[in-house]
Amino acid sequence: MIISKLPNVGTTIFTRMSQLAAQTGALNLSQGFPDFDGPQALRDAVARHIAAGDNQYAPMTGLPALREQVAAKIARSYGREVCADSEVTITPGATQAIFCAVQALIRPGDEVIVFDPCYDSYEPAVELAGGRCVHVPLALPGFGIDWQRLQDALSSRTRLIILNSPHNPSGALISQAALDQLAALIRGRDIYLISDEVYEHLVFDGAKHVSVVAHEELYQRAFVVSSFGKSYHVTGWKTGYVVAPPALSAELRKVHQYVSFCGVTPLQWALADYMAEHPEHVDELPAFYQAKRDLFCELLTGSRFSFTRAAGSFFQLLDYSAIRPDLDDLAMAEWLTREHGVAAIPVSVFYQTPPKDLRVVRLCFAKREETLRLAAEKLAAI
Ligand code: PMP
Ligand code: GLN
Repeated sequence: MIISKLPNVGTTIFTRMSQLAAQTGALNLSQGFPDFDGPQALRDAVARHIAAGDNQYAPMTGLPALREQVAAKIARSYGREVCADSEVTITPGATQAIFCAVQALIRPGDEVIVFDPCYDSYEPAVELAGGRCVHVPLALPGFGIDWQRLQDALSSRTRLIILNSPHNPSGALISQAALDQLAALIRGRDIYLISDEVYEHLVFDGAKHVSVVAHEELYQRAFVVSSFGKSYHVTGWKTGYVVAPPALSAELRKVHQYVSFCGVTPLQWALADYMAEHPEHVDELPAFYQAKRDLFCELLTGSRFSFTRAAGSFFQLLDYSAIRPDLDDLAMAEWLTREHGVAAIPVSVFYQTPPKDLRVVRLCFAKREETLRLAAEKLAAI
């Protein structure tokens, strides 16, 4: 019998809910992905590069043209000059980037602080490296850092803290003050950061994303991770990047070169072309997604769900205590899918110890207007 290295891991909730949605014919607002396509010019560029023969291995660290575009975007968005050669690495998705950063840093016995609710890929990556996650719940209702609990969780074994802003599943944004406080807390300690910023361009109501890239002190010890999948509506392309100071990038690359070696060549060419031609694309994302969030929320105003509009990401949390307080959120997500034709994600799966009586599900609003109208109509009728 094989002895599992990940005995507590099953099939992810995203796969399970998407499968249930497909089986039942429900509208799938569970797993986070758009039901519309990325820009035509971007997709055309892939076809063009495949036809032109750009089909062999890319450089291990990523195509220089794409790394240059990432560096230019960071300068434009966050005012920091990073070196495209020594600080930017293109990876096959943010998940792989996070995995490699964790493997590069964590040794058996190390502790990694994650904030609950937390994205599902962090903990298995830490466990495979022989480390242990210490879960610090975010403070409700705003999903901000509970500083006392964070301080209590720090130990001489703490080697890494994983941040995620805009936050999946809550959409909460980290503030500049919180980054400053974090910097003060870990100053002088041998602690690194992974900052998962895959929703960096999905921030609403005039807010600005606060990137760790722009934080002079924290950046020196950080791996900042993002995903073209989110920013260009192409989650299936599984193409992302890591920005980190040269010494950290060098260690990350040692792992990356043996996990996958490089990202997919024609996709990297297409992204580089498109970013060069359409630097404004990312600046248009806040308004584009805010309109979707607002439409969905307005259609649900007057329903029996209660909610605070998401500050960022493409997820909206809905509290259903007034509807089925008798159901836990897993049962509720299944009930919504089977009985009401809208698939959702339960929020308790993002916790080690979910808050008692958590009655919240997550819905993805990266959908066409028609899908959002249909889904909201079904939800408002409950
Ligand atoms: N981090 C978070 C918080 C996410 O929601 C996702 C989403 N899918 C990822 C990382 C992974 O991104 P990718 O698909 O590029 O691996
Ligand atoms: N990040 C996506 C979500 O939160 C899911 C990605 C996946 O299925 N692994 O829904």
